Amino acid sequence: MKKVRKHYIDLKSISKNRGLVGDLFPSRYRFSPYRGCQHGCRYCDGRAEKYYVEGDFEKDIVVRKNIPQLVEEELSSIREKGIISISSGVSDPYHPLEEEERIVERTLQVIEKYNLPISIMTKSSLILRDIDILERINKKSGVTVMVSLTFLDESLASFFEPRANSVEERLTVIKKFKERGIGVGVLAMPFIPYISDSKESMDEFFSKLEEIGVDFVSPGDLTLRPGKQKELFMEGIRANYPALYSKLNYLYGENRPSGIMRSSYRNKLYKKIYHLLDQYSISYLFPHSLYKGKLPLYDEVYLLLVHMKELYYRKGVDVKPLEVVVKRYVNWLEGERSKFNRRRSLNYTDLEQELLFLLHSGGFLDLIGNKKVNEFIKEIILEEKVFDYVSLSNKA
Ligand code: SF4
Repeated sequence: MKKVRKHYIDLKSISKNRGLVGDLFPSRYRFSPYRGCQHGCRYCDGRAEKYYVEGDFEKDIVVRKNIPQLVEEELSSIREKGIISISSGVSDPYHPLEEEERIVERTLQVIEKYNLPISIMTKSSLILRDIDILERINKKSGVTVMVSLTFLDESLASFFEPRANSVEERLTVIKKFKERGIGVGVLAMPFIPYISDSKESMDEFFSKLEEIGVDFVSPGDLTLRPGKQKELFMEGIRANYPALYSKLNYLYGENRPSGIMRSSYRNKLYKKIYHLLDQYSISYLFPHSLYKGKLPLYDEVYLLLVHMKELYYRKGVDVKPLEVVVKRYVNWLEGERSKFNRRRSLNYTDLEQELLFLLHSGGFLDLIGNKKVNEFIKEIILEEKVFDYVSLSNKA
């Protein structure tokens, strides 16, 4: 393990999203206890200049030591319920330093006092240290654990993710959280072109995830942003996979600021991924079962509509009517949100009541202009059903 230089700073505020809730991971509040990451994954895009992480990404670690107190102060006056995400693109909350700093553990003790759901992203089995408190929070308000895992081959893991836990250890994390009744998703990103994206290895990978019963898999491709991230990754390829160097160099030769690969390869990759997800009946979206009851009703309806549009589109259904519904609903929701955001005297639970009134009175149909979707949303919200993202049906 590389010797770490700790830089203690105080975070001013946890991040709050005042707009529409994210449709990939639907959190409203977010913080990360660290900046920089000891896991040192070769593909990590947190190294890119865009994120302004100063010093050596793996050694100069910013430690936000005041997070437990800050979360205590801010949660006590929170106006709107929503999921708190403990994550970041430039660190892992459970990288080795957490073992001595214990910031996540102390923050969870604070969160336990407030009835707010959380989600945590990690590659580390250190999260098992906190499994008891996470189980208690899950029983009260809900927890989703997202484990980052992209291949089953241990030799790939030790090269590309040199100081993260082994594949076997991460699989154990998933199983243990599932045994405790906690929702687990897998962040399957990035699939590395020519190295971890063969049909056989991906088939084995998704088959394993189906066997252990993950709730969803969020897939992603490798991006290489020009600059530090791309240079470090390509150096590793030159040294360890010399035969692949020129192929990868060509694939990322457009040097787009986003680091995206050539679209022809990318399209084929996603086709393969969606085919396998279908084959193994795994949701690629954060499923309704994991967010129902954890979000305000207006966010739940928003996510359902956006996800339905995406899911039916993937099935080849014409989603133009759904696009109209989403547009009309979003116009209404954004208008209402800006009113509630501006006036601190208003309570967001009133916005939920307003939506319930619309659903009971027929006003929701006027709002979205689509009978079928109106019936569907009424059934989900008023009869407390769960929409299954794989079978596309409602369950009690
Ligand atoms: S664990 Fe995540 S944040 Fe840390 S180096 Fe790996 S990819 Fe980057």
